[in-house]
Amino acid sequence: MTFSKLGLSSPITRALEELGYQKPTTIQTKAIPVALEGRDLIAAAQTGTGKTASFVLPILEKLNQGETQRKKRIRALVVVPTRELAIQVESKVADYGKHLNLTSAAIFGGVDEKPQKQRLIEGVDVLVATPGRLIDLYGQRAVYFEEVEVLVLDEADRMLDMGFIEDINKIIARLPEDVQNLLFSATLSNKVRDLAKTAVHNAFEISIAANAASKSNIEQWLITVDKDKKSALLSHLIKENQWDQALIFIETKHGAAKLVSQLEKRDIKAEAFHSGRSQAIREQLLADFKSGKIQYLVATGVAARGIDIDELSRVVNYDLPFPADEYVHRIGRTGRADAKGEAISLVSKDNFKNLCMIESRLGHLIERREVEGFVPNKPVPISILNYVPKHKRQ
Ligand code: AMP
Repeated sequence: MTFSKLGLSSPITRALEELGYQKPTTIQTKAIPVALEGRDLIAAAQTGTGKTASFVLPILEKLNQGETQRKKRIRALVVVPTRELAIQVESKVADYGKHLNLTSAAIFGGVDEKPQKQRLIEGVDVLVATPGRLIDLYGQRAVYFEEVEVLVLDEADRMLDMGFIEDINKIIARLPEDVQNLLFSATLSNKVRDLAKTAVHNAFEISIAANAASKSNIEQWLITVDKDKKSALLSHLIKENQWDQALIFIETKHGAAKLVSQLEKRDIKAEAFHSGRSQAIREQLLADFKSGKIQYLVATGVAARGIDIDELSRVVNYDLPFPADEYVHRIGRTGRADAKGEAISLVSKDNFKNLCMIESRLGHLIERREVEGFVPNKPVPISILNYVPKHKRQ
């Protein structure tokens, strides 16, 4: 399969060639022709599968054939859960559309709204936005929706988890009736399906490998360890295996700061990445992590959601995530677009239930390893696959 056979024209395929994309990924092969036909789409695809291009490319193709935008009007709207993802998706729009005469912008909260309003005055072809700021600017008449042709809800499950349902419904209610709707979600939970009922009509449904959760190019394993030995174990792993890079997930901001200082005491330079740090610092940290200037980034789950780094070789779950789907999102950070990756979890006895839920979600157990000198005094019990938490038992 080639990009041009999917119906994309040469200014776009040329940009993809220049980016080194040789052929479409599975989700792209399935979604692009459907989206180009103008149909609504609901796609279960997690990050790392090439899902962004699967909606950005048909949008660019379509918009390129139509009229350009007018003042304060937008033609395609991509709604995403976080500012990092907004920035990342918009940069893909610019990359893929670099030989086209289309404009794009990202708007999100946490920063001054003036430049964003300014940017909207002349109109934008593709607007990528987080829900809250978008509703805000709409309320201020900085943007109008009557010329929107395509709506994308990206990472819909995540937006629902973050409590954006009301904002999303407000946005949908204000769009033209004949808008084309594309919904992407890592998982198609009941909540997402409920949203799909309002947002998507007669949708074509695509699910790429339900077991995307266990992508084969990601090696997953866990190390059992006592809770108070985790930071020593992490330092040991970094030094012993000479890890070039690791994205380390941790539960709290406070925990992130503490871990960074514990690593520092062992001569390992890491940086904390969480919502308590300013947007400018977060962007700088990401750029430094991508360039390799920072080797170890200790991030809270929410903050790390939009991180997109080509060929990130390794993620570490210092704390196991909750709910189980979050584990799937996290391991999706590595092994992106067919590169090899590894996902390592540090698991102590108190993480046991959480581990069982994750393994049930994956449909398989995660390989356990022990590291000499760190064998736990409080062993982690044998996992129970198909574990059902107490409150859900009949
Ligand atoms: P996504 O799932 O959209 O976050 O994409 C994951 C990564 O795969 C991004 O870094 C993309 O640049 C890259 N990518 C997307 N499509 C392709 C492709 N067809 N060939 C190679 N890399 C790709």
